[in-house]
Amino acid sequence: MERYCFKTAVGEVVYYPSRVWSSTIAIKGEKYILIDPQYHFLKDTTRPDEIWLTHTHPDHILSINKFEGIPVYAHPEGLEILVSPFPDRASTKREIASAINVVENFKSLKGFRKTTLKRMVETIIRMHSLPFINIKGVRGVKQVYKMSDGEKRYGIRIFYIPGHTPDSLCFYIKEDGICATGDLIMGGVRSGEPFYTRF
Ligand SMILES: [Zn+2]
Repeated sequence: MERYCFKTAVGEVVYYPSRVWSSTIAIKGEKYILIDPQYHFLKDTTRPDEIWLTHTHPDHILSINKFEGIPVYAHPEGLEILVSPFPDRASTKREIASAINVVENFKSLKGFRKTTLKRMVETIIRMHSLPFINIKGVRGVKQVYKMSDGEKRYGIRIFYIPGHTPDSLCFYIKEDGICATGDLIMGGVRSGEPFYTRF
């Protein structure tokens, strides 16, 4: 498997890129942290101390149930999906709630056209609900914990960066200028939409 290793202030970082699904990052320092475990890790026998999620899209959480008993850390907006026996339904519910928020945020803006708003809402539903069709293997995760904006764990700063999803987080190693941004940045291009920012 292709991988890139480098030393940082908080330990060795191993980056497993993927051109199709989510990339995965392992940080081997004070604790062994696995960020966004996806299908690469279905066969990996190394057990991390903690799993951290940049967000709860299915390609970022595919291998979670293979690490039973390992605590999973995520933003509160993603917890319902992780613990649900029906994550596809929980995801759809969240995206509808998000769409309602978008309408509330934007409808009062002067000169904002209804057709633009409708297109934005449709994009949210299409982009963020479809991937959960046929989701398997991520149901009723037992040990799930909240991460909050500004928190620091093992020398790594956690920031809340809603845009790609309402539960997006990034993990920042200040000393090395390294930030795991999830899908907020893909291929060097900002991908998310500023839909979830509240006015
Ligand atoms: Zn995503």
